[in-house]
Amino acid sequence: MRPFSYARAAGAGAAIAAVRERADAAFLAGGTTEVDLVRQNVLRPGLLVDINDLPLAGIEDLPGGGLRVGALARMSDVARSPGVRARFPVISQALLLGASAQLRNMASMGGNLCQRVRCSYFRDTASPCNKRDPGSGCAALDGFNRGHAVLGTSDKCIATHPSDVAVALVALDAVVHTRGPAGERAIAVDDFFLLPGDTPEREHPLEHGELITAIEVPAAPVARRSVYLKFRDRESYEFALASVAAAVRIEDGAVTEVRLALGGVGTKPWRARRAEASLLGQPATEASFAEAARGELAAATPRPLNAFKVELAQRAIVRALTTLTDGGAR
Ligand SMILES: Cc1cc2nc3c(=O)[nH]c(=O)nc-3n(C[C@H](O)[C@H](O)[C@H](O)COP(=O)(O)OP(=O)(O)OC[C@H]3O[C@@H](n4cnc5c(N)ncnc54)[C@H](O)[C@@H]3O)c2cc1C
Ligand code: SF4
Repeated sequence: MRPFSYARAAGAGAAIAAVRERADAAFLAGGTTEVDLVRQNVLRPGLLVDINDLPLAGIEDLPGGGLRVGALARMSDVARSPGVRARFPVISQALLLGASAQLRNMASMGGNLCQRVRCSYFRDTASPCNKRDPGSGCAALDGFNRGHAVLGTSDKCIATHPSDVAVALVALDAVVHTRGPAGERAIAVDDFFLLPGDTPEREHPLEHGELITAIEVPAAPVARRSVYLKFRDRESYEFALASVAAAVRIEDGAVTEVRLALGGVGTKPWRARRAEASLLGQPATEASFAEAARGELAAATPRPLNAFKVELAQRAIVRALTTLTDGGAR
């Protein structure tokens, strides 16, 4: 592990300035991603700027029905907030199905959105990895890629985005608020996660030293009836092979509003817009759910080891929608 300096920031402006000053500086929140990667020599920051003293841990139910969560709010606090559980159960469930109780007590919401991929080649500094070392190649393309993505891939990177709660936030059109050298800005969460394309090393549109301050979720009455399902190799302490965030409103037996997003299968948290569009106005039946799921996964580019994810994701969508519609009329 390369030695690094550590500073505790007194205010947001000071934190931003400290990171801006050095190209090899980074923010430190709960440290559950950052410290792991520093220990493994994957990241070699020269300076870590601890932001835990900043007043960014609030969880606020907004009057119109929305939610504002500070970037330093801990995953466990957000998951058990009464407002989140009542208005956005999908967020609470996604958080509780992630990591472990100890990690959720440490891990912040801003850090969760910025966590790095779990691709084993990214963490193995002896392997080529375009994300860690741009231009070096991608060991996963012809390697052990059972857990890798089938949607949004490129010939440079096929790693899945690991966050669970980001999937729920993408389904709910959340907005990421930041403060940086150019002032404050608001980024739609779907635009916050970049596809790998030719530049997999660039995962977010954040500038160096741009600080996430809050995540805002607009009011969504449909989310009161929402669910997060996660399918993985073992029941705890494991990342998703496929997951679904879903919310749906049914009137007179037909789908009138629906939100769907997938985790574990995309290089970014995957808003299933094609499935949403095909469901609108359709009868709430297992047959229409299955057809919508097939349509969404039609764009998949599986490899022999992860081809099973195509069917798993389709089944996950059907299961989530039938769960929300009391089994769906058959
Ligand atoms: C064993 C294990 C299992 C896990 N399982 C899951 C899981 O099942 N599901 C899941 O979703 N996650 C899982 N995680 C990931 C975990 O949720 C993240 O590590 C955590 O959310 C990161 O938050 P943090 O506060 O610790 O971030 P840190 O480690 O402090 O920071 C992570 C990154 O975010 C940057 N950063 C932090 N805060 C800000 C900010 N406000 N603005 C800009 N940049 C910032 C840091 O510079 C760093 O690059 C797991 C982690 C581990 C170690
Ligand atoms: S899939 Fe992405 S993270 Fe994994 S080795 Fe390839 S470039 Fe690196």
